[in-house]
Amino acid sequence: MAELSPVLKQATPVLAARGEGVYLYDEQDRRYLDFTAGIGVTSTGHCHPRVVEAAQRQVGTLIHGQYTTVMHRPLLQLTERLGEVLPEGLDRLFYVNSGSEAVEAAVRLARQATGRQNIVAFQGGFHGRTMGAAALTSSGTKVRAGIGPLMPGVVFTPFPEPYRQHCSQAEAVRWALAEFDHLLVTLSSPRDTAAIIVEPVLGEGGYIPAPPEFLRGLRERADQHGILLIVDEVQTGVGRTGRFWGHDHAAIRPDILITAKGLASGFPLSAIAAGEDLMATAWPGSQGGTYGGNAVAAAAAIATLDVVRDEKLVDNAAEQGARLQEGLRKVAAEHPVIGDVRGLGLMIGNEFTTPDGLPDTATATRAHQAAAERGLLLLTCGPHGNVVRMIPPLIVTAEQVDDAVARWAEALAAIA
Ligand code: PMP
Repeated sequence: MAELSPVLKQATPVLAARGEGVYLYDEQDRRYLDFTAGIGVTSTGHCHPRVVEAAQRQVGTLIHGQYTTVMHRPLLQLTERLGEVLPEGLDRLFYVNSGSEAVEAAVRLARQATGRQNIVAFQGGFHGRTMGAAALTSSGTKVRAGIGPLMPGVVFTPFPEPYRQHCSQAEAVRWALAEFDHLLVTLSSPRDTAAIIVEPVLGEGGYIPAPPEFLRGLRERADQHGILLIVDEVQTGVGRTGRFWGHDHAAIRPDILITAKGLASGFPLSAIAAGEDLMATAWPGSQGGTYGGNAVAAAAAIATLDVVRDEKLVDNAAEQGARLQEGLRKVAAEHPVIGDVRGLGLMIGNEFTTPDGLPDTATATRAHQAAAERGLLLLTCGPHGNVVRMIPPLIVTAEQVDDAVARWAEALAAIA
């Protein structure tokens, strides 16, 4: 009998039979509050009726209109709709299926556009598992170990992490920017540096928001040296952080924006956006893919954007995110093992730390499991897996937030 490869690491023992809104149900119809959203994907909740309707309609009309063979209306319409929410001037789009593929596409574009090779990435960053994206990833060695050599030309520099670096946010920013400047004079001359790639909230690395002054500092340096700024909004985009894009908190303009995950509520779809002149430097035919910009995924994405707008989900993410963070801080105040609660919008991490200030992976793992046993599905992240993260669908209500906080408090009490 065939079985799934053990390479898959399943965070919870749940066998999901169906999903509805913020809830998942197993085959015994046991209900779980899903604060994982399929790693930040089901932005409009599981099976939002408008997404279901749009996808079903498209399935009966045209499933696969391959975009380098024939064009189809859903992709043109989606491009128009994204134009309404993308930063001004980032009005040329290219579609693929996953976050990793979009990261690869951004790197290709940056290298072709600048004629330079190096990409600056941040320690603790996550950009995917394909060989290029893995080369940019340092949130944990599991993505890189045993598979090298990876894509060359990647240089790493620190991300500001006030909690772990034991300093104020301003000090962390000053230090990280100084390290960046040092990099440009020691390891990667601006003449060799094509792009900087950064997450507005360090995601898999531990849910650490990039301070706005840090992103602004990177923007200034990119402008000064003709380096492109790639903002990886795979996890932070489409309202997740309480603004439409995570980088909106810093009021900067990326040169290349990457979006995926929440864009199509669970259908595989990703995109990069750039300005007309920049996108025109891509060598024709150097980007593409059989399934890129699939018609059903595009129809689901249009419906997703409609729901985000009509149900005011960006505002809801800000409001419920603040409520969730406040509730989690109260719980953490009772449990010193949680050293830090932080996040932006509905992307919140609880970092578990020993009394000596070291990562407490064992307790984080037990808390995560105890929550699942109480019907609250969560994920962990961070290089040591000691950050329990909460990333519910953007439709989450105040009652569901309070319910999750209560279950979390029960889980922690049970393992104390
Ligand atoms: N970039 C970021 C910021 C991500 O969080 C992820 C996925 N967690 C990726 C890229 C890779 O996306 P995918 O798994 O769809 O390839």
